[in-house]
Amino acid sequence: MNGLPTDRSPANTILRLVAAGVVSSRAQAARVTGMARSTIGLHVDQMLRDGVLAETEEPQGARGRPAKELTIGKGAGYVVDVIFDRTNTCVAISDASAAIVDSRVIEILLNPDPEAVLQRVFEAADELLAGHGLELADIRQVIASVPAPVDFHKGVTAHRTIMAGWERIQIAGILSEHFECPALMDNDANLMALGAATTLHADELPLLHLQLSTGIGAGLITSDAKIHRGADGSAGDIGHLRIDSRSEARCQCGKVGCIGAYASLHAVMSQLGIERGTDADPRSDRKALMQLVRRADPAATAALRDAAVHLGHLTAILVDMFNPRTIVLGGAMVELSDDVLSTIRGVVYQEAMSIATRRLVISPSRLGNKAALVGAARLGADELLEASPRTVAHVVRHADAVR
Ligand SMILES: [Zn+2]
Repeated sequence: MNGLPTDRSPANTILRLVAAGVVSSRAQAARVTGMARSTIGLHVDQMLRDGVLAETEEPQGARGRPAKELTIGKGAGYVVDVIFDRTNTCVAISDASAAIVDSRVIEILLNPDPEAVLQRVFEAADELLAGHGLELADIRQVIASVPAPVDFHKGVTAHRTIMAGWERIQIAGILSEHFECPALMDNDANLMALGAATTLHADELPLLHLQLSTGIGAGLITSDAKIHRGADGSAGDIGHLRIDSRSEARCQCGKVGCIGAYASLHAVMSQLGIERGTDADPRSDRKALMQLVRRADPAATAALRDAAVHLGHLTAILVDMFNPRTIVLGGAMVELSDDVLSTIRGVVYQEAMSIATRRLVISPSRLGNKAALVGAARLGADELLEASPRTVAHVVRHADAVR
């Protein structure tokens, strides 16, 4: 997806190319990197001995010898991904090529008992590891996703309602201690954006990903395929912007007139008099709204279209600000009705500058509720390969000793 690193050690470069699926043989590695076959052979052999790479015999066609295919080995390490969400939490193991090895969904409410949630996360991770013959030492990175603003540098979140009870919990610190490796925590909107970016080509970036659900969030992926977090990690927290100065809707943040208070799924549901889901059935409100939409209920159709017009105004401003090549719209509002996407698209093309919309593509998410997990796996793989000079330094030392 992104450009190839040029300032890496040869072993790290080969490892990255194999992880990215660009290279699957020594001959290809030599062609792509321009390194001598003998140099490639030295590094590949050492990484095979260390288990960082694996080589499988792939029978070719009738002619020619069987080709050996290079893949990522167990020694490259694994990532534990923890996707915290309001009504359930997903725990997964992914590898250095960002492939999701296995995952489990834990049905547990995020509030009010963080310890119980973390306990279940640890149990699920143990089961996943055991199921794949992996040990704690194989885990080299943890990525956590939370549905709330994150101080990316401190690994903490604080949100009065979404993550009540978690304010003083050092989530990244606890995960790092438990899994005995580095842990990063990010906002789900950022990881969803990174996940969506994995479905695009490099020339389809920059990407603006909008998550339109019970809240409204945005993630921006730059043209070099990185998350734009801003100075403090809060870039993309757009749900509390005041777009319509006449609005007097009270927001859960305490302010009045936030776009999330009148154009989110919760706002639409409360306009229609739909009762919030209960702890026993947290999705009852969505189901009720879906039934209204399926019946083409005029009030539901109008409320969703109104919300989409507001979201269109917001998106048009973001388009002029960031000039993305692609916008991906995810979340329950887009899944509920095609009308939401087409309304937003219409407003954006009308209001944003034509230079910014001429080649702009606006499409629905292809990953659905997997977007944050796919993004976490991608970020985890990037961290593994970034950290792998440790592994690679070890490899290179070996190689020197061999000489
Ligand atoms: Zn607000």
